[in-house]
Amino acid sequence: MIGDRFYYFVLFGVCVLVSGSARSDELVLAENGQSAYRIVVADDASPSTKHAAEELQTFLEEISGAKLPIVSDREPAGPREIILGGNAHLRMLSTKIDFGTLGREGYVIRTVGNHLVIAGGDLRGNLYGVYGLLEDHLGCRWFAPGVSRIPKEKRLAIGPINDRQVPVLEYREPFTYDCFDGDWCARNRVNSSSGRLEAKHGGKVRFGGGFFVHTFNRLVPPDEYFDEHPEYFSLVGGKRLKDRSQLCCTNEDVIRLCTEGIRRAMKAQPDAFVFSVSQNDWHNYCQCDKCQALAKKEGSQIAPVLQLVNRVAAAVEKEFPDQAVETLAYQWTRKAPRTMRPRPNVIVRLCSIECCFSHSLEKCDSEANRKFREDAAAWAKVAGRLWVWDYVTDFRHYLLPFPNQRVRNDNIRFFVRNNVKGIFEQDTYNSPHSELAALGGYLTAKFLWNPDYDEETALSEFLAGYYGPAAGPIRAYIDLLHDRAEQENIHVNIWAGPESPHLTDELLVKADELWQRAETLTADDPEVLKRVKLSRMSIDYAILERARLQAAKKLPANAQLKTLAAARFGPFFEVLRPSGLTRIREWTSLDVDDYRRKLGGALGLETKPTD
Ligand SMILES: [Zn+2]
Ligand SMILES: [Zn+2]
Repeated sequence: MIGDRFYYFVLFGVCVLVSGSARSDELVLAENGQSAYRIVVADDASPSTKHAAEELQTFLEEISGAKLPIVSDREPAGPREIILGGNAHLRMLSTKIDFGTLGREGYVIRTVGNHLVIAGGDLRGNLYGVYGLLEDHLGCRWFAPGVSRIPKEKRLAIGPINDRQVPVLEYREPFTYDCFDGDWCARNRVNSSSGRLEAKHGGKVRFGGGFFVHTFNRLVPPDEYFDEHPEYFSLVGGKRLKDRSQLCCTNEDVIRLCTEGIRRAMKAQPDAFVFSVSQNDWHNYCQCDKCQALAKKEGSQIAPVLQLVNRVAAAVEKEFPDQAVETLAYQWTRKAPRTMRPRPNVIVRLCSIECCFSHSLEKCDSEANRKFREDAAAWAKVAGRLWVWDYVTDFRHYLLPFPNQRVRNDNIRFFVRNNVKGIFEQDTYNSPHSELAALGGYLTAKFLWNPDYDEETALSEFLAGYYGPAAGPIRAYIDLLHDRAEQENIHVNIWAGPESPHLTDELLVKADELWQRAETLTADDPEVLKRVKLSRMSIDYAILERARLQAAKKLPANAQLKTLAAARFGPFFEVLRPSGLTRIREWTSLDVDDYRRKLGGALGLETKPTD
């Protein structure tokens, strides 16, 4: 939440953007469409460094009108250069860049005499340094694919800069359909496994194909092994299970099969970084004596799983030193073990699925969040490489207003304080245009790169950039929704329905007025109006689904809401049909005609699709 500061993102030095009268310590990068500068890269620079030079050239031209040439570091040094990456011209300067401390993604932006140096890790550091200059020092923003803010400057000048940044999180993923565009990901400095990130973007944190999560069945398929070896699978209630089973993790043959499967996958996919050895997505852990003796000793059902994962990791670590084995701390495995420790090449992904997300993980007084805090604190001490699988949408109602925009930074900071090194924020990943998806993705990206990024800046800049003149009423709507959940201490989990107390008929009527104003204010800008209408589907959905519950007498009837539902039925489907939205809930695809017919029938409205 705003005002709750915690500083661990390290920013050295001071960054000043100067315009107006000339100063002796400023570098004038461009003036009146002309520039004395050129961009210098090494001939053998990495693909992402070469792409970085082109991106810098493109955006500096967009800002100033001047196209800076890109030249090789084999050319003699010039008087004014933007030196990109560790090349020959950088070595001629007196300044020293400690590349060893920057890793693959960190960078330094530094003015040296008349030169500007951007230098970091070859993989993504130089590219991120360019985006760092453009975003943090020159005011560029990339809100959503196709929606950005690039300032225009007649005179583009910078003061002294010495800015060193190394991301605190090695893995940063807003898992949001609207945010999979590769350029958007790179420009916002996220290395999402699902982002369409190519070699020119410095690649990404790639999971082995088929080894993203829930891999027990893949590693030891029941159809292949159960009939001959039922002992490989969970013993539940005295019976070995074939369907919805887990593995008997202490069985030596199971350990061998998992090891062989992971070794094969690592060999076949040398460009992938993480391979999951993790429970299937249901319960039914093995209750055999051996598994349970270990679980009892360690005080957690993770113990047999972690022993298996450690054995696999130990077997492959010499042959594949740059790759890691991942497992989940999820539902029945969420509690940390007493004495066992994950090996250095094991990543544990702690999952927050049970929690309340209308309040921060840290401050919410629900039992679910209190227990999660305990488990997170325990894992912080146990796991060297702790990642998190966090949840940021309503999976039962993708469109339902979900008051979690204000906790995004709080929760990311909570994780980082608990030794977390990678964060996967599971949002609406299999359909576009869920509730405020573009906003959520943008906020998440900002906080994943810099957990201390100012929330108010991120929110207000996004609303102005994305919704233009409608920013005011949409901000009022966001405040209305969030204030209620905060002030009334209403807990909201990821399966909340339209009957959830964070929504009321009065709130929806007021929200509808705000969205109507938003539409009116953007009436003469078709592109922005379209974004407003797509976002308004969320509040329409809540109105219609709540009216449906009232019609079925599952909620007290409200005449005003009923009238509103009748008025919004048509416009909602008019936007929904061509929107490309394919799912209303995570696990079923949407048939618009069928949905319209059933909803219209339930509300006593016309039922045949007309458009
Ligand atoms: Zn067992
Ligand atoms: Zn709560």
